[in-house]
Amino acid sequence: MPAFNVLTVLPGLFSGFISEGVIGRAISSGKIDLKIHNLRDFTTDKHRIVDDVPYGGGPGMVLKPEPIFRAYEKILKQRKKKPHVILTEPWGETFTQRKAVELSKKDNILIICGRYEGVDERVKSIVDEEISIGDYVLTGGEIPAMVILDATIRLIPKVLGSKDSLKADSFMDRGLMGYPNYTRAAEFKGMKVPEVLLSGNHQKIKEWRKLKSFEKTYRKNPKIIKRLIKEGKLSEKEKHLLEIALNNIRNKIK
Ligand code: SAM
Repeated sequence: MPAFNVLTVLPGLFSGFISEGVIGRAISSGKIDLKIHNLRDFTTDKHRIVDDVPYGGGPGMVLKPEPIFRAYEKILKQRKKKPHVILTEPWGETFTQRKAVELSKKDNILIICGRYEGVDERVKSIVDEEISIGDYVLTGGEIPAMVILDATIRLIPKVLGSKDSLKADSFMDRGLMGYPNYTRAAEFKGMKVPEVLLSGNHQKIKEWRKLKSFEKTYRKNPKIIKRLIKEGKLSEKEKHLLEIALNNIRNKIK
């Protein structure tokens, strides 16, 4: 079973995340093992101190290396195998679906959540990669850890009910964005569901979805479409649909 360990000074932030929805079910049904560790449990002093002032002065506090190393060594001993260690950092490699796919194939991941001004630089000696969830600064690495875990865990086989829902996700098919979805009623406040979706013609529905996916991708990031053309990654049928999609965009058809 894939194991995920998270090291944090605020374990309470994860209580909803690990008990609700897809992630909660993946844990309770034994598809993954996810443990949230309180960094303070790895201190040895009476006050359970995890941070200290930075050498050289300056504002804020820095997470001390000792409790982090102690936690790392305990996890190492339990699994008898080095975990893949991720440190959340605003300047790390930006998290993407591609990275989530890569992480979903690992069987033992440890995420260290930074806080305050960050971690003592020596912690980096046990870190395999630094991951950012975007170019902004949050108060801590807990939300980034949840983002990384959520995107990764849902890709693990059998975590989601249907494999097909992953295939239809944005970024999963050659970087293309997902198609638009509708449910009942067929007409709501004068807005109608596209007729093709009510037709029962599966081939036509498939083509319409591909067309909409091309339109959405081109509007959001034309580089993806240009790369697919350049690398010859489109079938003849898809090239034809792409042509229609580009025409629709030029003529501003929604
Ligand atoms: N002193 C740091 C700097 O120079 O950017 C900012 C520290 S931030 C207040 C505290 C912690 O939040 C970081 O150590 C990191 O673990 C986490 N964090 C903040 N923004 C993040 C982001 N965009 N992606 C991933 N982690 C982030």
